[in-house]
Amino acid sequence: MKRVRSSRPELEGIAPYDAKQMRAEVRLAANENPHNLPGEILDKLADRVRQDMEFNRYPDPMCSYLRELIAEANGLEPGNVLVGNGGDELLLDVVLAWGGPGRSLMDLPPTFSMYGIDARMTGTHLIEIPRLSDFSIDATALLGTIADRDPDVVIVSNPNNPTGTMAPETLLIDLLNATDALVLVDEAYFEFSRQTMRPHMERHPNLVILRTFSKAFSLAGLRAGYLLANADVITELTKVRQPYSVNRFTQAAAALTFRERMVFEAGISETLRNRDRLMHAMSAMPQLEAFPSEANFVLFRIPQASAVWRDLLHDHSILVRDFSRTPGLEDCLRVTVGSCEEVERFVAAMDEITTNKQASDHFGVSATASRHMARE
Ligand SMILES: *Cc1c(COP(=O)(O)O)cnc(C)c1O
Repeated sequence: MKRVRSSRPELEGIAPYDAKQMRAEVRLAANENPHNLPGEILDKLADRVRQDMEFNRYPDPMCSYLRELIAEANGLEPGNVLVGNGGDELLLDVVLAWGGPGRSLMDLPPTFSMYGIDARMTGTHLIEIPRLSDFSIDATALLGTIADRDPDVVIVSNPNNPTGTMAPETLLIDLLNATDALVLVDEAYFEFSRQTMRPHMERHPNLVILRTFSKAFSLAGLRAGYLLANADVITELTKVRQPYSVNRFTQAAAALTFRERMVFEAGISETLRNRDRLMHAMSAMPQLEAFPSEANFVLFRIPQASAVWRDLLHDHSILVRDFSRTPGLEDCLRVTVGSCEEVERFVAAMDEITTNKQASDHFGVSATASRHMARE
């Protein structure tokens, strides 16, 4: 044969996920921890590799040791915990097990794009309840649509990526009371918001909480995340998961990191202080609106956002995330709260860009056009 049969029709409208990884000196596009693992943890990990890590053997499928550590820290049993190859894998497992053809997933855009991608690729019907203009949840539409359409899974990113918005706890409780659908509260930024739905798990067997090692814990490159849920839910998820998805090295690194998680507290506090500094600096910039955030990133709106994104990258080697083509996020960029130096570089660059912009706007020429003229 000289041809390939076409793939499933559901895939036709899907664009491959593009993480937009580009070369830049200052990388503030993916909400990672600006620092690598602390030296003590790297040393212990290196010792483990040399002493007894059998790369020739399959890893423990259920990550038993890490599972016990996470369960104990959250006052749960190991059967209430599922570890995955990043939170992304666990999200797909949830949609594989609770979604599928003839079933529906509800989310609250603008939000984390993987929810919609997972729904589409599994043939799950997607029900979207757009957020209000301040990115808070439209409670009336949410609860009304739960009653009318009875979705099978509801996913709430809390705080919401990319807006930084927190859902009121009372609204999430109303949601849990209104449905027996699986309600997944994505707490990928829990270490920054310090707010969790964990206390409501006992009363609500349909509540699932997602966390990750990729953001506060410096392990984005190794892929580890976990779910907290009722044991029967975990059992269903183990039916669809890839048995060996979390490799030995990642299990060891995540366990060491979780055991030593107190050492990350200083970095988390530094991030929260840097976020305040960043918000303060941005509040003084003309034509820029920064939205309050409970996470390690800040979403902001600025005229000609795509041109600003390009100037940050080309003139300052700073990479942020461009959301300006996402519905509801017109003219919005998202910047990760980096180290002190990174925040300073970003603020200095934005000062320069917004000052130039204002000057050129004054003469009736667009900022980008005037810079191009200056270059020519
Ligand atoms: C980063 C993130 C995740 C998971 O990331 P992983 O690296 O796959 O663990 C999940 N949800 C949200 C909202 C995120 O921002």
